[in-house]
Amino acid sequence: MNRQVYYQILKRLGVEVPADVPAVETEEVVVEPTGISPPIPVHCLRVALRRWFRLTVAEVDGRRPGAEEVESLRQEILKLEDETGPAYAGPVLREEARRFQRETARCGWCGNLGHDGGCER
Ligand SMILES: [Zn+2]
Repeated sequence: MNRQVYYQILKRLGVEVPADVPAVETEEVVVEPTGISPPIPVHCLRVALRRWFRLTVAEVDGRRPGAEEVESLRQEILKLEDETGPAYAGPVLREEARRFQRETARCGWCGNLGHDGGCER
């Protein structure tokens, strides 16, 4: 039996109930938010770098991207590099450039063909 109810019964029966009867204890269940977690910065950084490499290649091929697009992407990459942490962002950058080179045969840094041993630019 709930202690509070018990005391109420005692009171009704005329039994002295101490004043410091604790409040009714409710069962409180804290529900932690679960499920979808926000995309981690390193994944966003990889995606943004890919876009940057593609823009670089497009420019070399004569499709000059808009200055606004380039600037906003540059800002996004800087922000994501910051969030990822410089110690980790550097290797991610080089890895993504290597992957891009392997998949497209183009250098992500200068947009030209080759440079699989690294860009001399
Ligand atoms: Zn290059």
